[in-house]
Amino acid sequence: MSTSSTIGAPDRRGTLLGHPKGLFILFFAEMWERFSYYGMRALLVLYLTKHFLMSDRESGLVYGAYTSLVYITPVIGGYLADHYLGQRKAVLFGGILIAVGHILLGIEGDGGQGGFAMNAFWLALAFIIVGTGFLKANISAIVGQLYPRDDMRRDPAYTIFYMGINVGGMLGPVICGILGETVGWSWGFGAAAIGMLAGIVVFVLGKPLLLGRGEPAEPEKLKAPVIGPVSREWSIYILSVLSVGGVALLLHHHDVVGWLLVACGVGVVAYLLWEAFGRLDRVDRDRMLAALFLLALNPLFWALFEQAGSSLNLFTDRHVDRWIFGMEIPASVFQSVNSMFIILLAPMFAGLWIMLGKRGLEPSTPAKFGLALVQVGLGFLALVAGANWAGLDNPTPLIFIFLIYLLHTMGELCLSPVGLSAMSKLGLARMAGLMMGVWFLATAAGDFIAGLIAATIGSLSEGASDPMLVTLSVYQTVGLSGIGVGVVVLLLAPFVKKLMHLDKLKEG
Ligand code: GLN
Repeated sequence: MSTSSTIGAPDRRGTLLGHPKGLFILFFAEMWERFSYYGMRALLVLYLTKHFLMSDRESGLVYGAYTSLVYITPVIGGYLADHYLGQRKAVLFGGILIAVGHILLGIEGDGGQGGFAMNAFWLALAFIIVGTGFLKANISAIVGQLYPRDDMRRDPAYTIFYMGINVGGMLGPVICGILGETVGWSWGFGAAAIGMLAGIVVFVLGKPLLLGRGEPAEPEKLKAPVIGPVSREWSIYILSVLSVGGVALLLHHHDVVGWLLVACGVGVVAYLLWEAFGRLDRVDRDRMLAALFLLALNPLFWALFEQAGSSLNLFTDRHVDRWIFGMEIPASVFQSVNSMFIILLAPMFAGLWIMLGKRGLEPSTPAKFGLALVQVGLGFLALVAGANWAGLDNPTPLIFIFLIYLLHTMGELCLSPVGLSAMSKLGLARMAGLMMGVWFLATAAGDFIAGLIAATIGSLSEGASDPMLVTLSVYQTVGLSGIGVGVVVLLLAPFVKKLMHLDKLKEG
């Protein structure tokens, strides 16, 4: 222990606000990446339905496949970085692919389906997906590497980093949304591209401040030729660029993405159960079962939450009164509300848990998951109630869009950071990477289901006399289901908490 604390003595040189300066390089690089991701995501469904004239159903499916693939690929990107590239090279390569994707999105064409612009569009999404696979998980991993294992600043560092994510998530939809919807689509996507390029510049210039973290474990292995004279490093880059074509095809065949998720899900659950019952002692087995319980709830939450960029974005565009001070605000701009609430509420939630914790009243992790589901469900019911109150012949007042995002953000704060930390606590150290990967995989499944829900709203609306009513009735059903499952989870929470054996965790 004494050795580790000597090695791990915090290096106070070159710090800013008590943290290594490298943290702020990662903060700004990820801020710009999220700026581009959320800026583009805010426009995506509107672009599909208004520019490429896709049906709501089809655009819901594309949105679901896209957001789902964005969260599947980090599992592979994380593996390649851990074993070969190191995180820094992976982040840089990922950033370049993402920027290429956003630049390709600038090819608008004349609209309508088919043609060169449509193909460029599929390729662009695939570039962003593969790029995010290399960037997203790895940039978060470097954050942790800036600190010794026992450094108390690690958790606050992730909180600061999460703020960077949401500053980007707040600014992206405002800037790209306004440019894209009012000046021209390619202006919006162009702004996203510039954002990603700014992130790359920050990351490259800030390299010395990363203190050599995230470098490849075995650089010689990386230089060794594997395909003819081509080194392992370049082989990875070339094969990844080639894989973009395959991912573009997957986007077309979204049902295959669904089956891939089912296959991976079954495989992962089977593996974790095999570990639990075959290899782990009683305490670790219980913990694994608790982790599986939480993992099963993750897709439910994101399936509801991720209506934001798809059906809720379209609802805001078509049925909400977006006039503020004599100006009609584009729907995409409201995609920033979630990040804005995160920035405002995250410190309050952190304080709330500490305050409740001191009184022994802090809800357990499974109880927080239950609360998350109840809140995400309540969000939908609040919007439905607001729309009914205003009358279905009138546009829904904007305040209810803020209300649904407020409740959804409070849910997110009860589930997303809590879930990540639970995964790192409940799995064994040797499974740390795997458990994070599985968490992202569960998120991907949720995003895919979100696409199916949005597509269902789309197909039910086709030919319906009142499409707004259709959306509201689906929202009511999913809202009630969220609350129902959330209540059951709250009732089960004390039993699941026992399975987590937290007392022994502290001793260990
Ligand atoms: N908003 C967070 C981010 O963009 C988390 C999103 C998620 O886990 N689905 O990183």
